[in-house]
Amino acid sequence: MRLLVVEDDARLADQLRRGLRADGYAVDCSGTAEEARWLATENDYDAIVLDIGLPDGDGFTLCADLRGAGRWAPIVMLTARDAVSDRVRGLDVGADDYVLKPFSFTELSARIRALVRRGAHERPTIVRVGDLELDRARRTVRFAGRPIVLSVREFALLELFMRRADEVLTRSEIIEHIWDWAYDGTSNVVDWYVMNLRQRLHGVVDGPWIETIRGVGYVLRPAADRATADPAAADPAAVDPADPEGSAGTAGRARPRPRVARERAASGRLAAP
Ligand code: CA
Repeated sequence: MRLLVVEDDARLADQLRRGLRADGYAVDCSGTAEEARWLATENDYDAIVLDIGLPDGDGFTLCADLRGAGRWAPIVMLTARDAVSDRVRGLDVGADDYVLKPFSFTELSARIRALVRRGAHERPTIVRVGDLELDRARRTVRFAGRPIVLSVREFALLELFMRRADEVLTRSEIIEHIWDWAYDGTSNVVDWYVMNLRQRLHGVVDGPWIETIRGVGYVLRPAADRATADPAAADPAAVDPADPEGSAGTAGRARPRPRVARERAASGRLAAP
């Protein structure tokens, strides 16, 4: 297991190097953001210990840059600043954990062990499906740079679809992830929210789209698949809220519906069969 320690305080860096080597890790040390960026790009570290204040930059930017470059080594940040906002910022730019200076080496060592166990799989702070981007920390959704305004529930629903793109989600799975235990409504509410979400994404003609899987649920398809699919499946009104199981046809065989029915559906009332 190989670690990178990014710390400009030479004495602390030396203590960390000796302690972590005694724990059995191979340890590289860097005192600047620039060198650390190069090392972390060239090597696959099992974990990175990252100080926030560096002479030529800061740990937040370095962390965000590494994640942006597709480097997913677990990162634990060291912060001397006892500000909650620093910890929040660190986690939101892609750090996995933090310790406050002065810290106990035993605790840092345990946190590193836990991070190394989890591995360096991808865990982006911004979820992307095609040109659709969802930033959970900033609570924004953009398609090809253009903002899309969503309600809290619509945002949660889109995030679930995007994190599990191309995976069919049942209505009960969706309810389980979006609503809490107190929710005792029916699964029809899912159909209603999916319909709203489709309308919000309606302007996104070349983007990902939500397909109905008859009798099962829904799946977010990336734009790339749309060319090979029946264009009717991309119809934002393809799911009739009065007929959520899609007896009018499968997802790829949506029945053309008159505009008035679409408008009534958009108002949230049930369309006449
Ligand atoms: Ca420092």
